[in-house]
Amino acid sequence: MPSVEVESDLDLLAELVEVDEFPCCDANHPRGVSFHDPSAPAEFLIVSPCCGDRGLLCRARSQYLRNVAATIHCMRCDQRWPPERYRFIPLPGFLPL
Ligand SMILES: [Zn+2]
Ligand SMILES: [Zn+2]
Repeated sequence: MPSVEVESDLDLLAELVEVDEFPCCDANHPRGVSFHDPSAPAEFLIVSPCCGDRGLLCRARSQYLRNVAATIHCMRCDQRWPPERYRFIPLPGFLPL
């Protein structure tokens, strides 16, 4: 397992500052029922525990993954982890889950 550089929440969010819009990365989620809300903006940055891979998610999708899904695939290495291993970081101005 390669070592993962741990970035702070602020470092992660700083990378998003120049982005005008935050689309939900699961807008076209291919697997089953996604609970994605097409009218909602992304509200959370999700960070995988293994690779530190990250994506932006709308609140409905985040709530589904956090509370209902048994496991979440890392988008980079395809390992599965329970939702509590992931970090769900609210974007500036949004409430935590
Ligand atoms: Zn969504
Ligand atoms: Zn991974």
